[in-house]
Amino acid sequence: MAWQTVEQFCVNEEIQYSLNESMKLHTSFHIGGNADLFISPENENKLCALLSFLKAERVPFMIIGRGSNLVVSDDGICGAVISLAAMNKVELTGSNRVSAGAGASLAALCTYARDCSLSGLEFAYGIPGSVGGALYMNAGAYGGEMKDVVLSARVLSFDGEIFEMPLQEMELSYRHSIFKEKNMTVLSVSFELKQDEKQEINARMDDFMNRRKTKQPLEYPSAGSVFKRPEGYFAGALIEKNGFKGVSVGGAQVSEKHAGFIINTGSATAKDVKELIKIIQQKVLEQDKVELHTELIFVGR
Ligand SMILES: Cc1cc2nc3c(=O)[nH]c(=O)nc-3n(C[C@H](O)[C@H](O)[C@H](O)COP(=O)(O)OP(=O)(O)OC[C@H]3O[C@@H](n4cnc5c(N)ncnc54)[C@H](O)[C@@H]3O)c2cc1C
Repeated sequence: MAWQTVEQFCVNEEIQYSLNESMKLHTSFHIGGNADLFISPENENKLCALLSFLKAERVPFMIIGRGSNLVVSDDGICGAVISLAAMNKVELTGSNRVSAGAGASLAALCTYARDCSLSGLEFAYGIPGSVGGALYMNAGAYGGEMKDVVLSARVLSFDGEIFEMPLQEMELSYRHSIFKEKNMTVLSVSFELKQDEKQEINARMDDFMNRRKTKQPLEYPSAGSVFKRPEGYFAGALIEKNGFKGVSVGGAQVSEKHAGFIINTGSATAKDVKELIKIIQQKVLEQDKVELHTELIFVGR
């Protein structure tokens, strides 16, 4: 497929883009081939114009946040990858309310809320995703999840309609949202928080971060927990029990520190990760009669 028409559109609309962009640079796993086009619109108007152009031209596209839950194919991604990283404004919109652009990092959102003496987002501090990606996944940790703090979101439907969606319509449950089902793009999110002492909020954020540093292999590239939590079990414990800690396929290795993580020891490919996952799933099914489903999202050719 020739991408000149898209390039020309980006030039005309002054939207940043690059060709054949390595997805290793845009994923926390540092895995993946090239995206044919990598486009970074800096605001909602440019994003909406871009998406309607791509649909009209039948150019395949996908939205990414901070790439912290993705395994990109070694053969890359056909069409356009659209990064919302530049749509990252965070602001106070009421005494207890904060609004954040979909591309804002959760870390930036959490520190902003803390600085406004607003509590509720501490759980999200160490999750390395964006606000949009976190809502899409209903990200959660340490007893909190997005569902607990979101008030509404500004959403772009597949047909190009922009509307405000209240929390009740988002169908948020464990690592699930309506955005997954309906191919909708999250543009920004409003949060309803609670007043608290800055120091108390900070102490909770530090506590959660320290727990992560102790338990998770943050010193290696990864995409977080590989598997969803199977009912009645912990994926990490099942994997450890079956002797997988430290087991590798190519450059992909089950973390010695936390068996629920696969790390990239330097040269891992998406194929390595897939193979390792398959071996783990088979063994755990055989030994424990438990089906492990991936939380990681596989994208690309
Ligand atoms: C070290 C580590 C620790 C982690 N810990 C946790 C944890 O404690 N809890 C947890 O839940 N997750 C955790 N994760 C996983 C990951 O950070 C979360 O799932 C996060 O919410 C993904 O956000 P992202 O912006 O990186 O999304 P991406 O990985 O870029 O995308 C994920 C999916 O969301 C879609 N998406 C992204 N932005 C939008 C948007 N604006 N509109 C519509 N769709 C969109 C993408 O198309 C893709 O399908 C961890 C990951 C790592 C690497």
